[in-house]
Amino acid sequence: MGYEHIRSDGRAKRGDFHTPHGVIKLPAFMNVATAAAIKGAVSSEDLVKVGCQVALSNTYHLHVRPSDTLVRDMGGVRAFMGWDAPLLTDSGGFQVFSLADLRKIKEEGVYFSSHVDGKKIFMGPEESIAIQSNLASTIAMAFDECTPYPASREYVADSVSRTTRWLARCVRKMNELNGTENTLNREQMLFGINQGGVYPDIRIEHAKTISEFDLPGYSIGGLAVGETNAEMYEILEKTVPYLPANKPTYLMGVGTPQNILESVERGIDLFDCVLPARNGRHAHVYTNFGKLNLLNQKHERDGDPIEPGCPCPACERHSRAYIRHLFKAKEMLAMRLCVLHNLYFFNHLMEEIRDSIEAGDFGAYKKNKLARMTESML
Ligand SMILES: [Zn+2]
Repeated sequence: MGYEHIRSDGRAKRGDFHTPHGVIKLPAFMNVATAAAIKGAVSSEDLVKVGCQVALSNTYHLHVRPSDTLVRDMGGVRAFMGWDAPLLTDSGGFQVFSLADLRKIKEEGVYFSSHVDGKKIFMGPEESIAIQSNLASTIAMAFDECTPYPASREYVADSVSRTTRWLARCVRKMNELNGTENTLNREQMLFGINQGGVYPDIRIEHAKTISEFDLPGYSIGGLAVGETNAEMYEILEKTVPYLPANKPTYLMGVGTPQNILESVERGIDLFDCVLPARNGRHAHVYTNFGKLNLLNQKHERDGDPIEPGCPCPACERHSRAYIRHLFKAKEMLAMRLCVLHNLYFFNHLMEEIRDSIEAGDFGAYKKNKLARMTESML
């Protein structure tokens, strides 16, 4: 169990992450199944076809609806959605801080109102871990505060020390639950989260502190929240070396194909992002020669697939003209085909990245790939 290093190419890492629910070949892209489903009518069976290795579900959404106890009674989120490969749950923190109304942050946790029915909810480290234990995901995330951007140095420093105290409580709670007889997944893995906004020294200190917890993996949170790409890359460059190299490092909520290539080069192993599914639902599809908008008039009689040569379920059988027609006719299939293609594109990008690291030519691969991408993919 745990991280097996295969090869490094500069700071880019190729490794296998052994989990209780199977091996994740790293670097990998997690496909986002917010409420235990990929938006765009994509099923767990489809996920296998588009090369998804690991899915991600949102703790906050499943807690509010249908409730984590219902999911537990149905065998956990993987059994509930029919997905028998690894799945990660976030802590709920990000949604609590971004979606919920009337939140109040205290030492014990966060008080807020549900975005569905306004019901008052309290979530702290123990509650988040208990919910994720009920969901029985492969990997659970520590409960943290994703600090807003911009935020003052003083605010970030206070928030980060609270996040460290919350991590200690998460670890205690997870050990307790993993040691309890009727817990569904007693091998649930906990990842710690690095915060610190755009202050490199706070990030580095925090990375050192959380590394001492000796967790199965770590993530970098609080980026891609409004700072520039240059600021994000600088933070990664300075912070990643202070997280354990023999564990997976997950960059939360990132990003574009360019963000992924630049971050792999800086030592990142895991990604998740709503972009491929969200763009697909709006007829925006990724190809190796740029992003296309299938609603564009020029595709009206375009007999090519989205990307010629792509083996995904959309390109294998359908033309751009057909998919454009489906959008115009408001057929559900339109979104579904575009989301399938985009997820395949991201999962396949990761496969190419893994192959290039193993071959020791990641630098050349990255340069070549970026040169072919248009502005809209950066
Ligand atoms: Zn395709």
